[in-house]
Amino acid sequence: MGLKVYNSLSRQLEEFTPQNHGNVSIYSCGPTVYDYIHIGNARTALVTDIIRRYLVYKGYTVKLVQNLTDIDDKIINRAHTLGISASELAHANGLAYFEDTQRLGIQPADVHPKATEHITEMIDLIQILIDKGAAYVVDGSVYYRVNSFSDYGKLSRRKPEDLLAGARVEVDERKEDPRDFDMWKAAKPGEPFWESPWGQGRPGWHIECSSMAMKHLGETIDIHLGGEDLLFPHHENEIAQSELATGVPFARYWVHVAFLKIGGKRMGKSEKNFILLREALDKYPPAVIRHFLVSAHYRHPLDYSLESLQTSESALKRLNNCIDTLEKYSVDIDESKDIKNELTTEDASLVSAIEKMQTDFTQAMDTDFNTAQAVGSIFTLVSTINKSIVATNGVSNHIYTRAYKALIETCEVLGIYSNNEDVHAQTNEYLEPVLDLLLDIRQDARNRKDWDTSDMIRDRLIELNIEIQDTKDGSTWKFIS
Ligand SMILES: [Zn+2]
Repeated sequence: MGLKVYNSLSRQLEEFTPQNHGNVSIYSCGPTVYDYIHIGNARTALVTDIIRRYLVYKGYTVKLVQNLTDIDDKIINRAHTLGISASELAHANGLAYFEDTQRLGIQPADVHPKATEHITEMIDLIQILIDKGAAYVVDGSVYYRVNSFSDYGKLSRRKPEDLLAGARVEVDERKEDPRDFDMWKAAKPGEPFWESPWGQGRPGWHIECSSMAMKHLGETIDIHLGGEDLLFPHHENEIAQSELATGVPFARYWVHVAFLKIGGKRMGKSEKNFILLREALDKYPPAVIRHFLVSAHYRHPLDYSLESLQTSESALKRLNNCIDTLEKYSVDIDESKDIKNELTTEDASLVSAIEKMQTDFTQAMDTDFNTAQAVGSIFTLVSTINKSIVATNGVSNHIYTRAYKALIETCEVLGIYSNNEDVHAQTNEYLEPVLDLLLDIRQDARNRKDWDTSDMIRDRLIELNIEIQDTKDGSTWKFIS
């Protein structure tokens, strides 16, 4: 079975076939950099990251473009309140965005175009639309004539009368039709502006994405990603502008990421119920936040709560313990050697568990990137291995090594394992002094040949999944599964 992707345009699960064999182009709508991002924003960025990682895992070459909207009403208004320039504010928040997303383990896109660096391309695209009769100029602003594009509404499936009802709130006398939207806004006093054939002004948000996507990825892109709130009007308008200008489909697959919720309500700046990503990263290791965010399929809403993060934290401890233990048993293996005949029954049973995990993982991810099920397949194998190691039942190191590699490879796609011991680090901070004290007491007992006390400390710690190791340099402790 190949990869299937739910396309918001057809509202169906479709076989994924990129236009150029082996290569995939992705455009993901990036942030408007007027403030720090919250975990809800991070969900879309993370889904983009995982889709890209999975396509690479499947052998595709991926080109990912994610824009930064660095000029917008929100930026201008906030900069005004703070008494700084819009470009200063956008620059600082752009840097903060990269800092936060990189802390979360999100790999940078191949290109991060900024709107303010693509004004010429935007002016050119607007001019094409004016020349085709799809746009008109009023008092230095340029509007898109929605009536000129017969397919308008094909993504959101909104009927013209619904669109009119939606547009009623912002009646603008200058528009021919309330559904028309601005592609170029004439400059207001005190606002940043650029020169254009229609006078000084700045681009509208929708034309920014159309221009930057086409400049960096061509007229037709394979996957266009964004949060579900962008489907209408942003993506509908991107389609209208791009397809009327080029005459070819703008994106082959439209992928929309559902909201993150908190207390049943959408997390958002306007709701004032958000948790900044950087605040969450100060409290939890990145892998824990990633595990939480991938614990639901990207098209399903996900509820943020402390309990969910704690669940992710303990799940990751099990995963890390398992991988760390496997690493200890790892040996160099000759991949080309067929060891089928040398397998013990226990070996064979673990081999089939590893193969089942790999099949289940791929099947889950091939079904519209179902990360929730993919994580489930990884943890099923983790439980099997933990039982197997605890039982010390004679599985060979070769097979443990295979399990180790399979887990690392699949966890890497989701980015939920990091060997920098983030998860342990936080726990160790609290536990270390207490455990050191216990080791001292035990050593004292051993010096007095009080073996009962020494053994009791060792056994009680084993019950808590902590193992004491006695070496010639003294005793140390580690987590076991
Ligand atoms: Zn966009």
